[in-house]
Amino acid sequence: MTCYDPAMKKQVIRGFFEEFVQRLIRENGAIHPSQMDPGTSYTAWRYKGHAHITPFSSEVLKTVAEDMCQEAGVTLLYHAMFQRVIMEDGRIAAAVFACKGGLRAIKARIVVDCTGDADVASNAGAPFEVGKDNNGQPQPASLFFVIDGVDKEKLLAYRAEHEDISAMWFMDKVAEAREKGEYPIPREKVALYESIDGTWRVNMSRLDHYNYCDPEEFTRAEIEGRKQMKIIFRFLKKYIPGCEHIRLLYSAPMLGVRESRRIIGDFVLRGAEMKLSTRHPDDIFLSGNRFDTHVGSRVVYETTKGDAPYGIPYRVLLPQKVKNLLVAGRCVSGDQECLAAIRVIPPCFAMGQAAGTAAALCLKEHVLPDAIDIQELRAVLQRDGAYLEEDE
Ligand SMILES: Cc1cc2nc3c(=O)[nH]c(=O)nc-3n(C[C@H](O)[C@H](O)[C@H](O)COP(=O)(O)OP(=O)(O)OC[C@H]3O[C@@H](n4cnc5c(N)ncnc54)[C@H](O)[C@@H]3O)c2cc1C
Repeated sequence: MTCYDPAMKKQVIRGFFEEFVQRLIRENGAIHPSQMDPGTSYTAWRYKGHAHITPFSSEVLKTVAEDMCQEAGVTLLYHAMFQRVIMEDGRIAAAVFACKGGLRAIKARIVVDCTGDADVASNAGAPFEVGKDNNGQPQPASLFFVIDGVDKEKLLAYRAEHEDISAMWFMDKVAEAREKGEYPIPREKVALYESIDGTWRVNMSRLDHYNYCDPEEFTRAEIEGRKQMKIIFRFLKKYIPGCEHIRLLYSAPMLGVRESRRIIGDFVLRGAEMKLSTRHPDDIFLSGNRFDTHVGSRVVYETTKGDAPYGIPYRVLLPQKVKNLLVAGRCVSGDQECLAAIRVIPPCFAMGQAAGTAAALCLKEHVLPDAIDIQELRAVLQRDGAYLEEDE
């Protein structure tokens, strides 16, 4: 999704995100967002909220991420599932992981929880919330799958004949298949995106009303996702012009969860104020991404009232009760509407950069995350390329 302001004129998420994208581009692993207009095959020909996205190769991403971590002296430990924290005086003294070879406790002075599900924060006793305004439910999950063999020219020819396609394309085909009982999928939209390696990603399944933090429910949802994948694949092949000869390559390595636990910090960012382009003295980045809420069979897109970006304050990264913990990604302290906008990848990069920088400042200054000098944090982020507007 986008790293641009709501007017889609200026890139506002930069810093580490931009550095990473440039590295991907050097390895033929991405197209820069400045070159991406809405309404292309990379956005499933969608317009709303899909300008200046960053198509990338997930395989190139893996190698670039490993290279950058190694260059920076990061110790990586793969296939390590967080189990529980060991607390001392309201602080996390160590985190226990299940690894090949057994359990391992890893000590840290400052911990950053980027599990998406606030696994560490919730286990450490930080208050959190799941769902609420959206009928008490988190947004539904989806299982992506990857195909090849799409005849793009044929798809484009069909598109040219159907003017309303930018809104909801192929709805006639969905209706026809439903009528015949061949498309019992809870989501209406036909969404297939071209990838830069020539394969296509399909994002059409809908797994709703599951508890994504419960291992049995997560398993059931993933199995249901693969059942839906088979139906969707057959539907595409039979009904969608250009998909007659598609081949199924693989399903996602795991179910894609849009939303689960959200920590409740002392400060909770509300979507309603973001829509007014509110700024805060402790903003760590700006964003213009739209509010993308999946409800029932539909997706509701909303944007800010004006063209200015909204600010995301440092406080959303701070949980209550646990002193040496920062949280980044889709489980920060915001209401559901807030997360509908900032759960996507460019804002998650910016939150990760801010949390990592804050953790480093904590170690340097011998303070806890709630006591760092915010202006120093903002200055370091700006020095490292983040855009907070004052620099232009
Ligand atoms: C179907 C779907 C489509 C999407 N489409 C887009 C899109 O087109 N563009 C876009 O920008 N965003 C999109 N998003 C949103 C975006 O991908 C996610 O919201 C974003 O990646 C969240 O980032 P995160 O770092 O918070 O969590 P994640 O990317 O989920 O990363 C969390 C990491 O923590 C690991 N982890 C979790 N629990 C543990 C544990 N207990 N122990 C050890 N490791 C653990 C996970 O394996 C994972 O690697 C989509 C999301 C979904 C579900």
